[in-house]
Amino acid sequence: MTQDRREMFVDGRFQPTSTSDHLPVVDPATEMVIGSIADSNDADVSRAVAAARAALPGWRETSPQERADHLRALADVFEDRSETMAALVTHQNGSVIKRSRRTNGTRPVAAYRYNARLADALEVEAALAPDDPSLVRREALGVVGAIVPWNAPQALLAAKLGPALAAGCTVVVKPSPETSLDSFMLVEMLAEVGLPPGVVNVVTGGRETGAALVRHPGVDKISFTGSTAAGRVIAAACGEMLKSVTAELGGKSAAVVLDDADLDVLAANLISTCLPNTGQVCYSSTRILAPRSRFAEVTDLVVQTLGTAVLGDPTDPASDFGPLVSEAQRQRVEGYIESAIAEGARVALGGGRPAGASTGYYVEPTVLVDVHRGMRVFREEIFGPVVVVVPFDDDADGVRIANDSSYGLGGSVFSQDIERATAVARRMETGNVSVNGRDRSDATPAFGYKDSGVGGDPGLSGYLQLKGISRPRG
Ligand code: NAD
Repeated sequence: MTQDRREMFVDGRFQPTSTSDHLPVVDPATEMVIGSIADSNDADVSRAVAAARAALPGWRETSPQERADHLRALADVFEDRSETMAALVTHQNGSVIKRSRRTNGTRPVAAYRYNARLADALEVEAALAPDDPSLVRREALGVVGAIVPWNAPQALLAAKLGPALAAGCTVVVKPSPETSLDSFMLVEMLAEVGLPPGVVNVVTGGRETGAALVRHPGVDKISFTGSTAAGRVIAAACGEMLKSVTAELGGKSAAVVLDDADLDVLAANLISTCLPNTGQVCYSSTRILAPRSRFAEVTDLVVQTLGTAVLGDPTDPASDFGPLVSEAQRQRVEGYIESAIAEGARVALGGGRPAGASTGYYVEPTVLVDVHRGMRVFREEIFGPVVVVVPFDDDADGVRIANDSSYGLGGSVFSQDIERATAVARRMETGNVSVNGRDRSDATPAFGYKDSGVGGDPGLSGYLQLKGISRPRG
């Protein structure tokens, strides 16, 4: 059944957009059109921003505990529907269901509950110091424009909405055109738990809709997650307008496999660390750095593990890899594989489309070796199921190669010696490093170094404005 949702959610209700322009929603596994969404224009964005501005004074005056209660209520409703939500996202972006259940099911629930706890603990006003009557206030920053990518839409939206709502901000969400139907499902839940109209609004559309939100003078902050190319444009526009911005961008992270690593642990964590979501995750450790003394062994293990992984229907709980999100993304990934071969790399696994899969935007899990550091596949984010395996000499050399990147988002170290792995992690120029597999809590910072982002703020701080009130000391 197709879902034609050519509307926007503004001021607590679904409303028609002022344009009939629309975009198709395509299931990447079947290539079937499963719905459509409005390609909203500047006037639609303005209506959404006006609703968010009108709701701001009331919402920011609520107590943090009241906001926490809303977030907890949302988490409860979300939890009941997480299976439906995960499936809806899988039909739009091809995320294998076992992963979608986490990223679009349990993770958002945990994030809303975590931010409810942060709201409970928020001290809006406090004395500057015991012997100073001046006050420090933490006030809601204002109207937030939340621009979200398609790869893990509900986890990434929750990472914006959770702290924004807890802090007392109101929000206009611009989801990715590939995954917008799930945002409508979310706002239905928000309405159900009694969130006041206008506190969260959704306008759908492509890049131009997002650009209109960024440029709108009624938006106080842009919270963007997406590509580095778009992030540069958005951060520049925000700089021009002196608007607060958080930009969480691309990556080209490294997995540093130390010479004492337990390769069973690497195998067990290979997909979740190096190629989660068919490689379409910003923090994927797609450069696997192997000690020269064990290079053949590590390469064989990677080839064997990825070669026996299940590539197939993303709705099947057995599938480890699904299709890429779109034909354009598949062409981009295939272009990278071709460029690697042209530059002298060798394909140790995959490299093409799976035999027999005539429908769906599939690319085989691919392992490239004989890769040197000047190659595009070593330097650029591919966003597909492609890893390179590159040798290093000692721990210092591993760190040097890991840091030889314009990005710095994720990363991982594998070793039986946790302290040794941690010493390597400390020297990696990147925002989040996992040791022996990825197991990150909501409280662990994960903000980009270098071209991977600007403005990472822990907890609620990215959504709060500090104010000082100086009072006479008597
Ligand atoms: P994208 O940058 O093309 O689009 C992301 C969102 O921004 C979409 O909603 C899009 O419509 C909108 N957009 C694009 N250009 C815009 C502009 N100029 N002005 C305003 N809005 C604009 O990225 P994508 O293809 O959807 O997502 C993949 C990228 O996101 C990858 O590079 C990935 O690494 C990155 N990503 C980063 C994180 C992180 O936390 N650092 C998480 C997930 C994805």
